[in-house]
Amino acid sequence: MTKMLEKVVIANRGEIALRILRACKEMGIRTVAVYSKADRDLLHVRLADESVCIGPAASKDSYLNIPALISAAEVTDAQGIHPGYGFLAENADFADAVESSGFTFIGPRAESIRLMGNKVSAIEAMKKAGVPTVPGSGGPVTEENAIAVAKKIGYPIIIKAAAGGGGRGMRVVHTESALLNSLFVTRSEAKAAFSDDTVYMEKFLEHPRHVEIQVIGDGKGKAIHLGDRDCSLQRRHQKVVEEAPAPHIPEKIRAKVAESCVKACEQMKYRGAGTFEFLYENEQFYFIEMNTRVQVEHPVTELVTGVDIIKEQLLVASGKGLSVTQKDIVIRGHAIECRINAEDPKKFIPCPGKINYYHAPGGPGIRMDSHIYSGYSVPPNYDSLIGKLIAYGPSRDVAFSRMRNALDEIVVDGIKTNIPLHRDEIMRDANFAKGGVDIHYLEKKLGL
Ligand code: ADP
Repeated sequence: MTKMLEKVVIANRGEIALRILRACKEMGIRTVAVYSKADRDLLHVRLADESVCIGPAASKDSYLNIPALISAAEVTDAQGIHPGYGFLAENADFADAVESSGFTFIGPRAESIRLMGNKVSAIEAMKKAGVPTVPGSGGPVTEENAIAVAKKIGYPIIIKAAAGGGGRGMRVVHTESALLNSLFVTRSEAKAAFSDDTVYMEKFLEHPRHVEIQVIGDGKGKAIHLGDRDCSLQRRHQKVVEEAPAPHIPEKIRAKVAESCVKACEQMKYRGAGTFEFLYENEQFYFIEMNTRVQVEHPVTELVTGVDIIKEQLLVASGKGLSVTQKDIVIRGHAIECRINAEDPKKFIPCPGKINYYHAPGGPGIRMDSHIYSGYSVPPNYDSLIGKLIAYGPSRDVAFSRMRNALDEIVVDGIKTNIPLHRDEIMRDANFAKGGVDIHYLEKKLGL
């Protein structure tokens, strides 16, 4: 019998570090928190069995500092490293370094991260597995083939960096006359941002929704899916609200795409949690990329399936396999998540600072994943996410009304947050309440 990991380094901060700590504690796994000098007061640092300062505030010197993270595992005699999301979670070199130093990387094998990290190779692998993709170039585009490829796809098209991420390195082209110049600019930007000027081309979909499928693989060729999420409410390609399941999708179409994702995972013997991201338009799914890590919005899936995704990650990493089979997965009810950011709700500028008073909402179906507390100071050095408010209900309407109540109850005093945006604009919007708005809806509504 393989043994469960006994001690794990949590190579992250904020709410996800606390979330991982809670899962470890439930499973009797000891925890090591690592923190930068700006993060001494993080809640999970206080709650962890041990903690190690890994460097100054700047992420590149701390949370992105691979030797410091591996040393932390060495000095504390830990066995595994959980990367959370962001920072090094999708860095194949980090996964390699962790494993070659003799520790378990709680995530996919480096080769899966690498394959999915290059969008051209990812799309190719998906096509082979039968996952539906966006009509596109099917490989890199250059000055020589661009005009012919674009003509074949049909305008408008979008040029995207193969190594791109975070919504950067993309350009929409509507006419042939603009094509070569846009290609040149996108390539230069890709080179500067990702040190790789490989670009490819896709049909530009005008009014898609963002719908994604959660998967978990055991690393030995078995995988399951945990249904879908709709994350169409976005600002600058950043998700603001997510829900599960995605509303108004015919069951047959939903099931078919999920099965294709499972098949793709099984073919690559995928290990751990992952997400297949799709654009959805006119009842068709189009794969755009795979995220090889746990996602910010994983709780909505946990609430409708009853599966603890972080625990499954820890089980799979320990070689124990998944605790559930596909047959056990039944989607019950509906869940919605509002990302709470320390930012000005009108100007969207980060607003770090001291929280004088915090009151968490409660009641049936309410879950608050957050590391903040009264007296906590949000440092200016990192992402502005300070928590996730998640509401569950037996129906979408009940989940929405519980969320509205919770947003009326929550108090974060001392700093500006986007709670008013969620409370007054989004959760009381009639079109959003109907379900099925596209990825441009929020920006249009807010006049951005
Ligand atoms: P990143 O890795 O930078 O997030 P993605 O490939 O996931 O890049 O695309 C980010 C966003 O860009 C999508 O959520 C969508 O809003 C838009 N987008 C990407 N490809 C297309 C497309 N073919 N048509 C329309 N919009 C697209």
